Amino acid sequence: MDHVQRGTETFSSAEAAELVALTRALIRIDTVNPPGNESAVARLLLDRALDWGLEGEIVELSETRANLQLRLPGGTGQPALMYCGHFDTVPLGGAPWTHDAHGSYLSPEGVLWGRGAVDMNGGVAAMVCGMAALARRSARFPAEIRFLGTVGEEVDCAGARAALDQGAMDGVGRLVIAEPTDMELVVAHKGALFLELTARGRAAHAAMAEQGVNAISHMMRLLERVERLDFGVGEYPLLGRPTVTVGTITGGSVVNIVPDRCVAQVDIRTTPAVDHETLLQTLAHLVDAHRVDGVELELRVTGDYPPVGTAPDDPLVTAADRVLRTLGDDAPHKTAVSYFSDGSILQPPTGLPTLLCGPGDPNLAHQTDERVDVAQLIHAARFFSELPYEVFRQ
Ligand SMILES: [Zn+2]
Repeated sequence: MDHVQRGTETFSSAEAAELVALTRALIRIDTVNPPGNESAVARLLLDRALDWGLEGEIVELSETRANLQLRLPGGTGQPALMYCGHFDTVPLGGAPWTHDAHGSYLSPEGVLWGRGAVDMNGGVAAMVCGMAALARRSARFPAEIRFLGTVGEEVDCAGARAALDQGAMDGVGRLVIAEPTDMELVVAHKGALFLELTARGRAAHAAMAEQGVNAISHMMRLLERVERLDFGVGEYPLLGRPTVTVGTITGGSVVNIVPDRCVAQVDIRTTPAVDHETLLQTLAHLVDAHRVDGVELELRVTGDYPPVGTAPDDPLVTAADRVLRTLGDDAPHKTAVSYFSDGSILQPPTGLPTLLCGPGDPNLAHQTDERVDVAQLIHAARFFSELPYEVFRQ
């Protein structure tokens, strides 16, 4: 077996400087999605990673969009440990920024500002620099350490879907995603199912309402039933219960015409106890049960992001817990979040133990004045360079 010897307790000041420089370079590349334009990030990271002794290649999805795969070669005795992060960011919003959103301003107090600082250029840079530290020290584990960089997570997880289809998860045994968690150990997150319901009836003059079929009235009855949906599951640890939110509803044209069309959008957030396929069947039956003469009902799925859940005592989680303690965190917090991630695409079909852990305050993600503490960024890179030693111990 490969000899696993710990060697990266220290992260040199030169490596820390490299990490900050890389994060700043990533912030300066505009990957606001849509449209994304993530290729420039993939190219920059590949160039640096090859210089630093890692292997890898770009996987183009279009002229402007590309995933990235990096590897620290290792033995074949065990399935790989995969690190994962997305390259795209969300739009800047209407409010003015204190510092240019793509300027990567570094304050004298050591706070790095910019879109993506938290979600998640910082996490991506910390993972790649953590792997680079291992390459520099010629670390070799019984399995490969991989990095998968994806496009499109903020819109449709297109990069993760493509990577899964292309076999990027083959040979992987554990997955860590550097979404911002303030370096807490996130072992579960909710899933999301977005639906569009359409009701079609028959228009008529409201003075002769009996000749029409009111699409809004039928939609209201259906929505009331959807809101009271019985998921057949109890409280899930840390996440609670699934929720149903009717987000939009449109229908009708003027007050004195029976409306012949009504469209509603519904957001359902699920816990790992809910199987999306079964849920969709239940919803389809519900819609069927509301079909009456003269009313057409249609159910369309506009987004499907299954939930992610890993046992809090899974060896991957306990390994991460030990590393955080080594790095000075006396009581690493295990928790869950309500946002979803590429884990929604990558975990359910593979069943991989999946952990979210990364630098940055999740409350600053998607916000104006997004910013990250450089100290936590360095802490994260050390975490990613230490984790393989614990995962592959003995
Ligand atoms: Zn993110």
